[in-house]
Amino acid sequence: MSNCLFCRIASGEIPSAIVHQDDALVAFKDITPQAPLHILIVPRRHIATLNDLTPDDDALVGSMARLAAGLAREHGYDARGFRTVVNCNADAGQTVFHLHMHLLAGRGLSWPPG
Ligand code: 5GP
Ligand code: ZN
Repeated sequence: MSNCLFCRIASGEIPSAIVHQDDALVAFKDITPQAPLHILIVPRRHIATLNDLTPDDDALVGSMARLAAGLAREHGYDARGFRTVVNCNADAGQTVFHLHMHLLAGRGLSWPPG
């Protein structure tokens, strides 16, 4: 989608601090980090929200979760711990309507979330 921020980041049209890319996924640093490590993992294909997934996307979502764990491990946070978050729609505070998984690590993260 030409007017979607994360489609444009995934295609390289808008610059970002990319930490991983492959055929299906791109991971880049959040522009307003909420923790010492704050990475966003997005599919290259435009999917607006979790509500828009189909069974055909099961492997894609699995690969997003495995990439999050892999990046956490790469940065030394696997044993200490990390959090993944996918916000969906208004009550969760989703602001960019292209599916993305937040990876947060490097500080104690409170629960329940705000
Ligand atoms: P949401 O609130 O939709 O779950 O998360 C959107 C995230 O995208 C926010 O954490 C926000 O800081 C991040 N973000 C918004 N615009 C940009 C941008 O232009 N570049 C990068 N790297 N992150 C962005
Ligand atoms: Zn998009």
